[in-house]
Amino acid sequence: MKPASWLRFLYPPHCPGCQAAVRAHGVWCADCYATIWHPRLIRGSRKGCLDGCYALGDYRGPLRQALIDLKFYGKLSQAAAFTRLLEEFPWPERWCRVTTVLGVPISAQRKKERGFDQTEEIFREFFRLRGIGWREGLRKVRHTLPQSGLQRAERAANIKHSFAYEGVLFSPYDTVLLVDDIYTTGCTMREAARVLHRAGAGRMVGLVIASGAD
Ligand SMILES: [Zn+2]
Repeated sequence: MKPASWLRFLYPPHCPGCQAAVRAHGVWCADCYATIWHPRLIRGSRKGCLDGCYALGDYRGPLRQALIDLKFYGKLSQAAAFTRLLEEFPWPERWCRVTTVLGVPISAQRKKERGFDQTEEIFREFFRLRGIGWREGLRKVRHTLPQSGLQRAERAANIKHSFAYEGVLFSPYDTVLLVDDIYTTGCTMREAARVLHRAGAGRMVGLVIASGAD
């Protein structure tokens, strides 16, 4: 038996959504895939400094569970499942003009507690392999309440002035891709884009794994 076969024998691959047996690690079973896969430009996401935000799937059922497993239970192996979805993004030509990628960050305190930043785990290597560098410098400087527990109007106030950018200034030729795990009302991503705009970022596009918005 080859080493790879042994590994498959010892750690058989499971669907990241429902644990059903699948052919390879990170692959979603047909049922989960049909439930979650919904690539789109989120309606109403072209606002403020953001030239729209793409989502890969719907934030519900197995995709929601897989993100919770990663973020709150530290199951880093789930990142492979999100990479699979990124590989299937139906309009990869949209990344041609992207010169730099930034993740919407969690606070340093939260990163220390969690041991990792989920956005970095999901996206950084994927874009590095495609020749698009990850840029540091966007920081979460103020602790905020979880957006999920707030009403729409409270979300903008909660996130306002919670980011700062301390990296090198952007050139007018940069097209920035802002990535995050979830997009709900877009308040968080728009606030991050506003801060980057002040550092000279021109065109900015968003990409998230999941969204509950259309
Ligand atoms: Zn499944």
